[in-house]
Amino acid sequence: ITQAYLDRIAADDDVLGSYLHVDPAAAVERAAAIDAAGSAGSGLAGIPVALKDVIVTAGVPTTSGSKILEGWKPPYDATVAARLGAAGTVLLGKTNMDEFAMGSSTENSAYRITRNPWDPERIPGGSSGGSSAAVAGGLAPWAIGTDTGGSIRQPAALTGLVGHKPTYGSVSRFGLIAFSSSLDQAGPMARTVLDAALLHEAIGGHDPLDSTSIDAPVPVLAEAARRGAGGDLTGLKVGIVRELGGEGHTDGYEPGVLARVAEAVALLESMGAEVREVSCPAFDLALPAYYLIAPSEASSNLSRFDGVRYGLRVGDDGSRDLDEVMALTRERGFGAEVKRRIILGTYALSSGYYDAYYGQAQKVRTLISRDFSAAYDEVDVVVSPTTPTVAFPLGSRVDDPVAMYAADLCTLPASLAGVPAISVPCGLSDGLPVGFQIMAPALADDRCYRVAAALE
Ligand code: GLN
Repeated sequence: ITQAYLDRIAADDDVLGSYLHVDPAAAVERAAAIDAAGSAGSGLAGIPVALKDVIVTAGVPTTSGSKILEGWKPPYDATVAARLGAAGTVLLGKTNMDEFAMGSSTENSAYRITRNPWDPERIPGGSSGGSSAAVAGGLAPWAIGTDTGGSIRQPAALTGLVGHKPTYGSVSRFGLIAFSSSLDQAGPMARTVLDAALLHEAIGGHDPLDSTSIDAPVPVLAEAARRGAGGDLTGLKVGIVRELGGEGHTDGYEPGVLARVAEAVALLESMGAEVREVSCPAFDLALPAYYLIAPSEASSNLSRFDGVRYGLRVGDDGSRDLDEVMALTRERGFGAEVKRRIILGTYALSSGYYDAYYGQAQKVRTLISRDFSAAYDEVDVVVSPTTPTVAFPLGSRVDDPVAMYAADLCTLPASLAGVPAISVPCGLSDGLPVGFQIMAPALADDRCYRVAAALE
């Protein structure tokens, strides 16, 4: 299996650009060792997997899509990587991504662009666009992505995959290069709901190495996916979020996307679900709140890239002092979007502006959580489109950050509230995939899988 995927990578990845690092010899050697040991134990033994390059892997180059980490080989494995290793999976390679996971198209990678296998002139989504392109293009059976504001769900939606952002704290962040620590979460990207559930089960559960890890048992998800596939949703209460593409809130949404989503809702109804509209007024403020909170946390997290501890160091020829070397390294090592976020975040956190920006954004975050709680008093899951549009053409939004940020309109509320959310394909618009998003209360990830499987 590993060799078959390596052959596909060799044949197609020059065009697709989904990987940043592949070591065929190491992958084959690992696969052979698993074969020799027999498949006793994990059901995942011998199955290859691709990891987003934000996940640190012992001895394997890890860049987070940035020049500032070029050549860095971490001395340890992220918990996600360690658990997949212990399950007997084979690392196929590290996938391309927007630098430090900041972006929605993978065009912010410092290394290469990634193309959407459905249409190579279009973006594969982001920031986990290398993972989405690899799986959708047949260059990996499944992959791990990370989602801070939508980076698993949005690329999954735009490439016709299933992608799940787990409940915050239910998958370890240990060894994920931090972007926005109160939002970051790793999760599965796969071709089927059951695959996503199996991959999620392999990486989930408590980890003492992550201080925000929830001390709860490993979630039981594959069973929920199998149950949902039966297509009986009798008694399930579904809320359609008015503020995400509903009446009076359709600006920026493509009619083709809304039509596919309406069809998916009708399908849920035909399987016995009770559907009603719910209103979550604070969701209208999710975008500005997220784009203050995430850059604020990023500006703090990225201070560790100082030209001393990791990767790149510029100008260290004995003629300059520490501050100059640090400034030169960061000037050269960070791309434009990363610098924009650092400046935005530093400003929002600065004395005199903190209350007006960061403080306000945190209040909005609380209001969004309350909107979810109120909705979940009435319904079991809430649903929406995953993205307002289908995959857009390469280059069409790179010079317009606000248009790029709008790609996250529907995914941000679940990120800010820490609740689980899945994207499942619900048909095509103009020949391109549309994603349907299902959100559930914290730790009820199984509901996302059940409903997604029913729609599959
Ligand atoms: N596109 C969003 C951003 O640029 C979300 C990224 C993510 O989830 N990592 O911040």
